[in-house]
Amino acid sequence: MTSGKPSPSTFASLSLDPRLLSALTALGYEEPTPIQQQAIPPLLEGRDVLAQAATGTGKTAAFALPILHAIAAEPTKGAGPAALILVPTRELAMQLAEAVHRYGKTIGVRVLPVYGGASMESQLRALRRGVDVVVATPGRALDHVNRKSLNLDGIRTLVLDEADEMLDMGFAEDLEAILAATPSARQTALFSATLPPRIVTIAGKHLKNPVRIAIARETTAHGKLPKVRQTAYVVARGHKRAALGRVLDLESPTAALVFCRTRLEVDDLTEFLKGQGLRVEALHGGISQGERDRVMKKLRAGTLELVVATDVAARGLDIGHLSHVVNYDVPSSPDVYVHRIGRTGRAGREGVAITLAEPREHWQLKNIERATKQKIEIGSVPTVADLRARRLELTRASLRESLLSDAGGLDAYRVVVESLAEEFDPLDVAAAAVKLADPSADGSGSAGEEHEIPAVAVAPPPAGLRAGKDGKSGPRGGRPRDGSLASIFIGSGRADGLRPGDLVGAIVKLAKVHPREVGSIQIAERFSLVEVPEAIAEDVIRALRAEGVRRKKVTVRRDKER
Ligand code: AMP
Repeated sequence: MTSGKPSPSTFASLSLDPRLLSALTALGYEEPTPIQQQAIPPLLEGRDVLAQAATGTGKTAAFALPILHAIAAEPTKGAGPAALILVPTRELAMQLAEAVHRYGKTIGVRVLPVYGGASMESQLRALRRGVDVVVATPGRALDHVNRKSLNLDGIRTLVLDEADEMLDMGFAEDLEAILAATPSARQTALFSATLPPRIVTIAGKHLKNPVRIAIARETTAHGKLPKVRQTAYVVARGHKRAALGRVLDLESPTAALVFCRTRLEVDDLTEFLKGQGLRVEALHGGISQGERDRVMKKLRAGTLELVVATDVAARGLDIGHLSHVVNYDVPSSPDVYVHRIGRTGRAGREGVAITLAEPREHWQLKNIERATKQKIEIGSVPTVADLRARRLELTRASLRESLLSDAGGLDAYRVVVESLAEEFDPLDVAAAAVKLADPSADGSGSAGEEHEIPAVAVAPPPAGLRAGKDGKSGPRGGRPRDGSLASIFIGSGRADGLRPGDLVGAIVKLAKVHPREVGSIQIAERFSLVEVPEAIAEDVIRALRAEGVRRKKVTVRRDKER
């Protein structure tokens, strides 16, 4: 950001056409990104703009909204477009045309992508019918200009997007020719991730007293960053949810804030993570204050693991103890990144910042690294094998607990093993038993197509997948499935060195129940949850309250969450 001037922080204060505002609301955008805050006002005033901003910063809306606003105020005359957006590649042309269409749907904008390799015929037909905005690659745009199928006389705004890329691809001459074919009274906006001398020269020649904006490279004003382990995962858009699910599975956060760009994304991701068995709630501008307070209380109390939020909703949240901050997208500027991850790793504890980046956003991480002068490790999304290994490790741990705490209760099973041992190697017998106990063993899977991430042979996440996290014990064969279970909250967890065996041991000993009656156990950092049959819940609570756990008095109560 180039200036310390306060920038408008709501779309409404940008005085955009109300129909555009409602489109933005429908898209779930809550507030303008820095590039939008800085570029929209001068563009609305008709000024030229020279902006250094990368993909992912929200630059498309930054130039598209003023164009759409002008078209809404003064409809396009004649067949020629009122705005021309030039981009380096056909993919970008398609992508941008779609974005402009989305932003301008409510004003009925006619957008046409024009790029090489596509049928000339259909482009000609569409051009003849009349369009408001053309998004084009320079080569094909020039073809149409030369054939007189694209008339640039009506161009009011010309945008050069990813100008550095266009020059790198050898479009300099085409650009000059196109610029020459547009009215000199036009408004020009140049967006580029970098500003090498060649770009500055073009800007000097074709832009009139432009407002200069820089978003990409800023140094953080917030001083030192806290101690935070920073990791990024590069994944294709379509696999982000599943990738995040896996990363969270491995990270087992106790209190995490997941940032999304839009309300819609927040809702979508929250639903998905809920489906993964995580305790997660959404926070965004559409959520009432009462609901918001309730969510925050739960997060502070440790009964919620994850909150998925937009920046706006997360603003001013007072959460002292986040274990993880997750950027579901690369933040729109290094400043936003720093601000977000500053929420973890407080009070001397190491925090974890996780960022998901799409391949095309990969290099933006470099920008952030430069600005923060800190390294962001590129991690690889945990594979099914990684998760399996972890689950097996947990199965091993719970078997060990069972052997340590349950020695007397194994007699009935020894008989089985002994009879099989006459026929098989006892080690094989044990291995087969472990396989049965392994929640990720073949055939035990439940739903989870969502977990498919290409390049890995994915076994669907088994029902017991969640059981793996937080040290929840593996399945206990023979636990009565009928009769309702009560969940008991115990105010002691991993941080106190508590292990599943401690809880089973204490409950078996104090409440005189059979180990098999103790259901799933979940050990989190600072608390644990254990399930027991409703019929004995009160006895267990009373006994644990009186005797403590590992000789320490702890809070014991019914877990209200269930
Ligand atoms: P861009 O840099 O234009 O490619 O935009 C990157 C992503 O940010 C796109 O997915 C946009 O939909 C999204 N986006 C743009 N502006 C906003 C905003 N104000 N709030 C939330 N998301 C946005």
